[in-house]
Amino acid sequence: MNDRSPVTRHASLQQALAAELADLQTRGLKRQRRLLESPQGTRVKVDGRDYIAFCSNDYLGLAAHPELIEAAREGAARYGVGAGASHLILGHATAHHELERRLAAFVGLPQALLFATGYMANLGVVTALAGRGDAVFADRLNHASLNDAALLSRAEFRRYPHLDLVALERLLAGSRARRKLVVTDAVFSMDGDIAAVPELVSLAERHDAWLLLDDAHGFGVLGPGGRGVLAHFGAGSPRVIYMATLGKAAGVFGAFVAGEPEVLEALVQGARAYIYTTAAPPMLSAALLKSLDLIRDDEWRRRHLRELIARLRERLRPARWRLAPSSTAIQPLVIGEAEEAVTVSERLARDGLLVPAILPPTVPRGTARLRISLSAAHAVEDVERLAAALNALQ
Ligand code: PMP
Repeated sequence: MNDRSPVTRHASLQQALAAELADLQTRGLKRQRRLLESPQGTRVKVDGRDYIAFCSNDYLGLAAHPELIEAAREGAARYGVGAGASHLILGHATAHHELERRLAAFVGLPQALLFATGYMANLGVVTALAGRGDAVFADRLNHASLNDAALLSRAEFRRYPHLDLVALERLLAGSRARRKLVVTDAVFSMDGDIAAVPELVSLAERHDAWLLLDDAHGFGVLGPGGRGVLAHFGAGSPRVIYMATLGKAAGVFGAFVAGEPEVLEALVQGARAYIYTTAAPPMLSAALLKSLDLIRDDEWRRRHLRELIARLRERLRPARWRLAPSSTAIQPLVIGEAEEAVTVSERLARDGLLVPAILPPTVPRGTARLRISLSAAHAVEDVERLAAALNALQ
């Protein structure tokens, strides 16, 4: 066989991949999937063993709520299990439509549009609203989906240091772009801190820009009734394009974008991640309608969550490690090197506590961390136990 035969070339491609994977392994960056054998929750069975988990984004403890399961069952009986088509063909069911109406009213914006996932919502919004000749301004610690969206849009992509609104203002003032779009996590997914939304709104107004707020981790948790980051700050503006996910505090799956009718119509007409994909199963919208009731009515879930956050921060005594300044359910304990973060996570697992280690490139190098996520389904004793275990490890 000569060197250029397809078989030889395939073998060398495989070797190159194997070498890259081995390198990830030696640098402690190779990720593993655990096998979850129970519903998502704070008590889980994983790889045959029982744990208390601090891993999910199920902040209100709704992912396996009996009323949501029942609503999904009824939704399946009414609509079947698959949407069978995209929204613009024949996949847009009455449950989707009703959910859009309820979501818009809930967050206090004129209109809402469902997307299959948050990742796709971000791709859809940014690529529909920005292109060549435009500019996207992004916080450096934004979620990967916002970065991918900006790259895919082909707009100029300018990143500013985390939460640095002086730097953002400088970039906006110096920009000659035709259309400007500021994009930011509302609650930062790996840090738990909250963007200064009122200041971002006034910057967007001063510099004639759109502001896309990704409230994946605030919706259901922040603000009166869990109405999200805009309600939390009492902020709002026709320039805001609000996005939130429905697979986190809402306990189900999917995402929505809310804002001015013209913006949403532009998404229906032009967001490729909306147009060219199958609608999420309407049974999920049926479950989400029930979830919205519980989010609105069960204030005790948010109150209990706040108590757990305060208790963890009071009990953890980090010596070498640093507990990031977060007031949300995401409590990152920054460890530093990836190997140590993995070791600490493994030691906790031996004690029956699951806390994920988050490694570069998800977070900047040298800031590997445990991402402790709290849920209203945790007991105060769970948090006490985690704090004691962590204090004993340093
Ligand atoms: N934005 C942020 C800030 C997120 O944390 C996530 C999920 N990790 C997403 C978007 C993507 O949402 P989804 O999981 O629904 O695709």
